[in-house]
Amino acid sequence: MKNKYFQMSIVLLLVFSFNPCISYGQSETNKTKVAPVNQILQIIPGEANQPPSDAIILFDGSDLNNWTKKDGTVPDWVVQNGVLTVMPDSTGRNDIYTKQEFGDIQLHLEFKCPETDQDTGQHKGNSGVFIQGRYEIQILDSYENSTYRNRQCGSIYNQYAPLVNACKKPGEWQFYDIIFTAPRFNIEGSLKTPGKITVFQNGVLIHNCAEIREPTGDVRTTNYKESDLKQPLVFQEHSDLVSFRNIWIREL
Ligand code: MG
Repeated sequence: MKNKYFQMSIVLLLVFSFNPCISYGQSETNKTKVAPVNQILQIIPGEANQPPSDAIILFDGSDLNNWTKKDGTVPDWVVQNGVLTVMPDSTGRNDIYTKQEFGDIQLHLEFKCPETDQDTGQHKGNSGVFIQGRYEIQILDSYENSTYRNRQCGSIYNQYAPLVNACKKPGEWQFYDIIFTAPRFNIEGSLKTPGKITVFQNGVLIHNCAEIREPTGDVRTTNYKESDLKQPLVFQEHSDLVSFRNIWIREL
């Protein structure tokens, strides 16, 4: 019996040792045996996906004051009836950027792929959220639309397919809740610790602490500076009329 307990202890020790998320976030390395009372910031949670009291509101249905285009000009995406919709242009890169830069975050956003899109594959309801402008969480109409596993809706583009396909039909609102731990870099720019991404789509876990070692786009460099810890969020224009609402973020 003693042996059995010993073996179980070893197994538990190994499991927690290898959990990729353990060393991130709010780990308390200097735990006291009795925690002090009333030392944690109290916030007011939101009802039904509405932002909690400490969130930064990026889009509440009214305007794009918190956003810019890459060249610093005012974005021309359409805001109507509380909904933000992509404005395609001939460059195919009419993306919008948050004015504020972020490191570790919790992000909530709601999106809807157009019912009218008759295309297939990667051309059906394509947009995306680039965390730090580098790591795309794909948005695509993946409801009964076959495409590459790791480029479908919910994928960390070209790196990780979602654990399941939790997509709703086009024309229905869906949501992402994303938890991101930014990568850390050494002074000379080499990767110190990789980024981590956890994603819920429509309340379903689709990535569990996925480890990110390089950007998801064409530019794969990881030769960043230590000062690159914070970067803007980027929402992608991919020629399709994808809509958004209720976008909020919390710095962690
Ligand atoms: Mg995309």
